Amino acid sequence: MILARRLARAALPLTALALLGVAPSLPPMSAEETVAANTVRAHVEFLADDRLEGRDMGSRGHEPLLGLNDYRGLDVRGKIVVALGGTPDGLSSEITAHLASTKDDSAARHGAIGFVEIARDPRNPGRIGGVAGMARRSAVDWVDSSGRSGNVPQGLRARLAFSPQWQERLFDGAARSLAAVRAQAKGVARPRGFPLATRLSITADSKWEDFTSPEVIGRLPGADPARSAENVVLMAHLDHLGVKRDAKPGEDAIYNGALDNAAGVATMLEAAREFVASGTRPARSVLFIANTGEEKGLLGADYFASHPTVPIGSIASVVDLDMPLPLYNFTDVIAFGADHSTVAQSVAEAGRSMGIGVSADPMPQESIFVRSDHYRFVSRGVPAILLMTGFANGGEAVWKRFLAHTYHSPSDDLGQPIEWRALARYGMLNYRIARALADAPMRPRWYAGDYFGDRFAPSQARALRRSP
Ligand SMILES: [Zn+2]
Repeated sequence: MILARRLARAALPLTALALLGVAPSLPPMSAEETVAANTVRAHVEFLADDRLEGRDMGSRGHEPLLGLNDYRGLDVRGKIVVALGGTPDGLSSEITAHLASTKDDSAARHGAIGFVEIARDPRNPGRIGGVAGMARRSAVDWVDSSGRSGNVPQGLRARLAFSPQWQERLFDGAARSLAAVRAQAKGVARPRGFPLATRLSITADSKWEDFTSPEVIGRLPGADPARSAENVVLMAHLDHLGVKRDAKPGEDAIYNGALDNAAGVATMLEAAREFVASGTRPARSVLFIANTGEEKGLLGADYFASHPTVPIGSIASVVDLDMPLPLYNFTDVIAFGADHSTVAQSVAEAGRSMGIGVSADPMPQESIFVRSDHYRFVSRGVPAILLMTGFANGGEAVWKRFLAHTYHSPSDDLGQPIEWRALARYGMLNYRIARALADAPMRPRWYAGDYFGDRFAPSQARALRRSP
């Protein structure tokens, strides 16, 4: 896999257009539990070791479905689209997150050559200094064999951000001012797009460097000739943030990523080991994928989903393991994406077999369903979930503390009070989930009428929703 660090280079004459606690302590361990706990501990201790220098990538170590179409009656071909960020009120958090993150893609699909996003809320207009910025920081993306960047929509030559003053100047001479558009776009209202009078000429310098970073993939062939061509994916991102460049002398500079996501990789390895130890091959094949570039924008998973080593249609389902928190005796898990497909039923059954509940998303405002590696498969029509330890039995306090003080900091290391037995249990749970998905008579299906299934897998068979 080849990834490029690059800024876009463009010189364009343009017409613009507006569119718009603490858990109870655990009982003494049995000999078997001790072995399992020691095994996952060894994986995490290796992956979170300082010698791996934080596992930095490249270092050593959707509208017609919702009745929304802002482009109806507008011709944006060869033009720059100026759009407000966010979405109208009244959509689910996951659909909002999906639409808000794919506006440049929509513009490109309608023939636009440039895209400018302006904050919907004038109190939070963005922090661009000067006139305009194309990219404030270096960006990392994968490129295909022709050198095309994976995350720049085809045909789009520039994505721009403007300072607040220049956002307003984009509307000079137009039928409506930016303030008027913002005032119209409150609540569920959707103002119609109109042409702007401004012409933009853009010149930008950029430089890029190429580096490679591997996706690590293992495949356990399925035993049933009728189902072995289908694949269940269990995956976890291996990369983390590397080394803190501006660390002060004596400061811990290494982002060990013990829980983000050495713990997820350890879980996957244990599930893989358990498949072999069971002595019985699964009916479907199972792919184990250690993803790269998750921290840089889900890049490895995106590359794999666009260049899969097996036909994308053969991937029956995906379970993503990202940042379990084995800091307490978890008694429930959250399956982000569980509202969308029958994968949730396999999760519920596996959980029941171990006395582990499956809880609803406790933080829907965070839209986690669209923010981890599994989403790159969802957007290609594959039913996928992200599994995390839940809020029950003290989990909520542990999660809040971790997110406030430890997440993406050098202290996500082996100094944390990790309950190795809880991680081993999490590994067993994920083995049972993957096993159920691999052995089930039918592959998972999107629920009838589900937005993401209808959007990305319109021709696939559907399941009727039932209570778990
Ligand atoms: Zn992370």
